[in-house]
Amino acid sequence: MLEIPCPWCGPRNESEFVCAGEADRKRPSDPEAETEEAWADYLFNSTNPKGVVREWWWHVSGCTRWFQIDRDTVTHEITPVEESSK
Ligand SMILES: [Zn+2]
Repeated sequence: MLEIPCPWCGPRNESEFVCAGEADRKRPSDPEAETEEAWADYLFNSTNPKGVVREWWWHVSGCTRWFQIDRDTVTHEITPVEESSK
């Protein structure tokens, strides 16, 4: 189980959060212009790199705010990203 550092609530158990995936992925500006394959790729696939990945997390069972962290996919080391909360 991971301990996720919410910028507003402090460190909390992973079970209080929903991970919304890689933060660096860009939503296509015109989804209607995308092929079905490209749109499905955006919706269902991630790059899943080995190493540090910036991710969106939602503190759904806490303050309900969104924020980003950098998480190493190998070691699960987590680094807060202060400027990324919205
Ligand atoms: Zn929180």
